[in-house]
Amino acid sequence: MIYAQRVERIQPSLTLKINAEAAALQNGDGSVARLGAGEPDFDTPEAIKRAAHRAIDEGYTHYTAVDGYPALKQAVRDKFRRDNDLAFDSDEILVSCGAKQALYNICQTLLQPGDEALVPRPYWVTYPAQVMLAGADPVYVDAPAEEGYTLTAERLQAAITARTRLVFLNSPNNPTGRVYRDSELADIADLLRQHSRLCIVSDEIYEHLNWGPAPFRNLLNVAPDLAERCFVVNGVSKAYAMTGWRVGFVGGPAEAIARIKKVQGQSTAGTASISQHAAHAALSGDQRPVREMVREYKRRHDHIVPALNALKGIECPVSDGTFYAFADARALIERRTDLQDDQQLAERLLHEAGVAVVPGSGFGAPGRLRISFAASRETIDTGLQRLRRFIG
Ligand code: PMP
Ligand code: GLU
Repeated sequence: MIYAQRVERIQPSLTLKINAEAAALQNGDGSVARLGAGEPDFDTPEAIKRAAHRAIDEGYTHYTAVDGYPALKQAVRDKFRRDNDLAFDSDEILVSCGAKQALYNICQTLLQPGDEALVPRPYWVTYPAQVMLAGADPVYVDAPAEEGYTLTAERLQAAITARTRLVFLNSPNNPTGRVYRDSELADIADLLRQHSRLCIVSDEIYEHLNWGPAPFRNLLNVAPDLAERCFVVNGVSKAYAMTGWRVGFVGGPAEAIARIKKVQGQSTAGTASISQHAAHAALSGDQRPVREMVREYKRRHDHIVPALNALKGIECPVSDGTFYAFADARALIERRTDLQDDQQLAERLLHEAGVAVVPGSGFGAPGRLRISFAASRETIDTGLQRLRRFIG
């Protein structure tokens, strides 16, 4: 069989792979403290689940419009206005099967072979793969730990070529937990104004998981003039503990959204009707469960970060948000002659110590470990104990 080159170029999603490996070990005879994939350990709030039951009972079990049923699109518009001070028309919104599919569709719509997309590094594992699946090439722009993960306009500028078409922004950031500051966004906006061929994808899936010094703001809040080439991607997975429901959405220019809709209509069509009703309830209902979950993530952050820093050879900065601790394990790897790199460390942690974490090299940051605290206190403490024992 001859496989398409675009598929051979990519790797399976490392986060999902580790999650699957941890689940398999867990279901076998092992006990695994699962601090790998980032998905809320909380159950989906009751009111949202009830809306899904109602949808089934009331017969909302058929195809919906490709871009989402109208009342949900309205709820998405209301959400953008309420939370982000952004006004989108109905033809500027598309609901998809998770933020992941929205991002994929954007890549399919905007990128072609020979094009380049700027991916700030560290990056979420999926951006490079989606760029490559569109036949284009990811170009990495460092936002290094030593500089507090700041994404500078200078570094972006240096990476821009005649082939650059797209830049990814992700704040709060997976894996670093960093939230972009207004000044940073303003500098980036100034640069982008000089490059009118570039489109911007702003991935805001962790928007609500923010406890840093500044409120969450996106590029359009500081540079509304970039709206005609900016795509704001978000979803319900993280904030509402709804990873399995598969609902995400994008707001962007109508002409581009029409094309994205064409891609979606010829691939998956609209996401599950029942999930859409649940997402509607999530976005338009009581927002207190979100705040409660975020408070708990912050408590866990404050618990896990000092505990990680107390481990010999591990350094972990505090973060602004998300539910990840992104720890530097280079000193540990250097000290222990039986450890070669972060991948081997993560592998051994999983199989020998029973702790699932994701190696930093999956995010373009070798020597680091991403440790999710979207897990119960008990699981976190078991994980920490096992790390302590393994590290010595
Ligand atoms: N963006 C980032 C940065 C993520 O970590 C994830 C993880 N799920 C997604 C997008 C996609 O989320 P979903 O498809 O579940 O909406
Ligand atoms: N985004 C989450 C993570 O980074 C979930 C898995 C995935 O889709 O990558 O772990």
